[in-house]
Amino acid sequence: MKFYSTNNTLSRVSFKDAVFNSMPQDKGLYMPVTIPRLDDKFINNLDGYTLPEIAFHVAQNLLGDDIPADELKAIIDDAINFYAPIVKLEEDVFVLELFHGPSLAFKDFGARFMSRVMSYFLEEGEKQLDVLVATSGDTGGAVALGFLGVPNTRVTILYPKGKVSDIQELQLTTNGQNIRALEIDGTFDDCQALVKQAFTDAELNARYRLTSANSINIARLIPQTFYYFNAYAQALKQGKSKIVFSVPSGNFGNIGAGLLAWKMGLPVERFIAATNANDTVPQFLKNGIYQPKPSVATLSNAMDVGNPSNWVRIADMFKDDMSGLNKLVTGYSFTDDETTAAIKAVYDHYKYVVCPHTAIAWQALKDYQQDVHADGTAGIFLSTAHPCKFPGVFPQEIAAQIDTPAQVKELQTKSKQSVALGKDFEGFKDYLLKNN
Ligand SMILES: *Cc1c(COP(=O)(O)O)cnc(C)c1O
Repeated sequence: MKFYSTNNTLSRVSFKDAVFNSMPQDKGLYMPVTIPRLDDKFINNLDGYTLPEIAFHVAQNLLGDDIPADELKAIIDDAINFYAPIVKLEEDVFVLELFHGPSLAFKDFGARFMSRVMSYFLEEGEKQLDVLVATSGDTGGAVALGFLGVPNTRVTILYPKGKVSDIQELQLTTNGQNIRALEIDGTFDDCQALVKQAFTDAELNARYRLTSANSINIARLIPQTFYYFNAYAQALKQGKSKIVFSVPSGNFGNIGAGLLAWKMGLPVERFIAATNANDTVPQFLKNGIYQPKPSVATLSNAMDVGNPSNWVRIADMFKDDMSGLNKLVTGYSFTDDETTAAIKAVYDHYKYVVCPHTAIAWQALKDYQQDVHADGTAGIFLSTAHPCKFPGVFPQEIAAQIDTPAQVKELQTKSKQSVALGKDFEGFKDYLLKNN
């Protein structure tokens, strides 16, 4: 498969170049030149396949022979080595649990697949790959654990001091090996600015082979399509075939992958874009005006994005077909008070605890089901992270019900190792040059 830039649909690069460049020079995003439909036989028999089998079939459909079948299979078996179950909460309401990977967030799908694809493409004798990543919380953990021990790679994570949860910080700072963590005395935006500047610094680029692992990398998007197919397969087993997905959205990579799955032939009735107060996309779906705004801080902070970076991919998939987009995607947005109320309602109804991002997706699904009445669909809302990653947002009685996964208990026995730096570029650059 060849890829083009959304800013120049005549351009062509290989999958390898798209993965290592992350973003085209012209600042568009990479998209496959064609989105091949999966064969009907596969789609109609999805419930006969396991998650790794589905993942292999879908990836091969899109990538063709960019990675030989046996190698692709090995990458997938190694990367997607955890479950993504749907759990029935009530009639026609299911939750898709995407938090059973090592960092307890759905970003494990993207980060684990991308790291192994990068490692596969690094040829014998090639220079070590230096991954720089700025994180406000979940991305760093997924990337750190995704690259941990992957040969010929090194990851440097920048995170804002005092602004990530304790568990997130432990996930970033207790790895050792090829992972190092920098605690920046600043905000997430400062971290991101440092990384961006490093990519344009001639001296650093001469010394190191720098790459970014952010959410716009096409190798993070592709594996996120797998769990939509797999969720649909599980719904089929429960006798449901008309499905609505409700997706908690920030940078719109997750829902973008769902739409890519739909383009490949997954027969989804509708997608719900569920956001917090950062409602650029729900507003656009309502009034047709795309007006990016500065982000505002909310309880669901992994979705505090005012100008979603993956939106151009969705726009590219629908070109000018606004009515097609409107038929398929509906937007809902919620305040922090509504988020807190939703966390409580989910607990009261089902004795089930959801993280604040997931709570927003549940509320959006409930509102949608109320708005359209019985349209014969079953709803699946995506749970993007385990609630234990956001302990600060729960009232005492709900917090007490969260069971701590084994990997977190183990983390809590480890001690943090990070290097404290200011937010000035010179200090960061100096660190990189002195720590070869
Ligand atoms: C990253 C993240 C999101 C937002 O996903 P996008 O792909 O950026 O829309 C939602 N919830 C959690 C927990 C996240 O970590």
